[in-house]
This record gives sequence, structure tokens and C-alpha cells, in this order.
Amino acid sequence: MNSILSVENLTLKYGRHEVLSNISFTAEVGDYIGIVGPNGSGKTTLLKAILGLHPFSEGKIRFNNGSKDGRFAGYLPQKAVASDRIFPATVREIVSIGLLARKKDPKFISKGDYIKIDAILDKLEISDLKRKKMGNLSGGQQQRVLLARALVSSPELLILDEPASALDPKIREDFYGILKDLNEKEGVTILLVSHDMASIGQYTKKMLYLDRRLVFFGSYEEFCKSPDMTVYFGHLSQHQFCWRHLDD
Ligand code: ADP
Repeated sequence: MNSILSVENLTLKYGRHEVLSNISFTAEVGDYIGIVGPNGSGKTTLLKAILGLHPFSEGKIRFNNGSKDGRFAGYLPQKAVASDRIFPATVREIVSIGLLARKKDPKFISKGDYIKIDAILDKLEISDLKRKKMGNLSGGQQQRVLLARALVSSPELLILDEPASALDPKIREDFYGILKDLNEKEGVTILLVSHDMASIGQYTKKMLYLDRRLVFFGSYEEFCKSPDMTVYFGHLSQHQFCWRHLDD
């Protein structure tokens, strides 16, 4: 197997408060990993450490593409949707940030960049919105624009933090459909944080269950058959999380 990311014995503290303890796992190229766990279990902190946005006291995070941190990854942060109706930037401007952020000075958008921006808007079926102001869009449209911003640089790793929690069920399904295609058809590796373990079990291929330490990492099949997880969650909860496997 070909790894894209390995996290080795990662320990991270806020002041004296240990938030992540001794976390180790490897993401293979083409993985789609759901990171789940209770509120405050360290999910967002783990993503930020991977992205190079948070220093850590012990351990290593390695990338197989020669990057020294995860800034090359496409990132869709939590609560990124603009609620301000007069938010002035247009869709094209917002998506261009995904390219500008990776440029050295002088930072400007070239003709080639506009071609990339228009191509990703087209792919996500939001070309008609490109001159609209972000603040005038619906929540689902804004989320697609932010996904376009994360994808415009064609990253091989995409990291999303609760991307669909505020969306209507139908829009959420569509959004997860786009992620599925990116993963299956284009081989993009995806790390997706969610508090909704039962629901993301339908979409992701592997589960990483965090509760400040790594409780479980592996496939859903392994999770469902694990006696340790039966002890940890109780038989009923494990059974509920595994509902999709009853159809297999
Ligand atoms: P999750 O994403 O699983 O809800 P977080 O990674 O946001 O968890 O938070 C993990 C723990 O770290 C929580 O106890 C939270 O209060 C604490 N925490 C998060 N961010 C900070 C911060 N900037 N300073 C201090 N403590 C923080």
C-alpha cells in the first residue's frame, strides 16, 4: 500500500491540558476516513495538527509527497459559511483564494488560474454563480463554493471539518455524492470529521474513533466485528452503528 500521511505517537497539549494522547495511524492513497468522537474529543485539533496549523509537543506527522506540513491539502473548515448577507466577495474571488494562498509573492491571478477556477466551478455545477456575492447564496451553494476553493489547486488530500452539518438532508446527500465521486473516480484521499458516526458510516470507507486517544482505526467491517468495540460501546450501540452492514 502507498501511504499519503502517517501520524506517529502524536501528543498535543493546550497549556497543561493534554488534548490528544499518543495518536498513531496511516492514511493510504485513496482512503476516505471518517474521524468521529464525542464533542471535545480532539477531532478539530487533530485536523489542525495535520494541516500544520497547530504545534504539537510529541510525535511526528509525515507526508509521502515531500511536504513538511499539510498546507498542500485542500481544507474546508468548520462553520465557514458566511452568514453576513452583505459579505462582499464574489464566488470567483473566494475560489481564487485557494490558488493565491499557495503562491509566493507577487500574488496575482493569471489567465491560467481563471481557467482552473472556471473549470472547478463547472465541475461542481456552480458556474452560473461565479459573479454572485457569497452573502447572497444559500447554505448549500456556499458550501459548494468553499469546496471549490479547497479543490481548485487539485490537492491529493482533502480535509473537511463537519462540512454538511448545517445543510438540509437533500443538499447534504448531494454534497456527499460529490465527495464520493472525488474519492472513487479521481482517487482524492479524504479525511472527514463528523460528530454523526452512524450517518457518515454510509459514506466513508474507514473510521477513526477519537476520544483524546485513538479508540479505533480501521474499516467498518473490522469495527463491527471487534469484541473490544463491543465492550467499549456496548452491544446495542455497536449494532446501531453497523446497520449498513446488515444489508451486505
Ligand atoms: P472536537 O473537534 O472533537 O469537538 P476540539 O479539537 O475542538 O474537539 O477540542 C478538544 C479539546 O481542546 C476541548 O476540550 C476543547 O475545549 C479544547 N480546545 C480546543 N481549542 C482550544 C484552544 N484554542 N485553547 C484551549 N483549549 C482548546
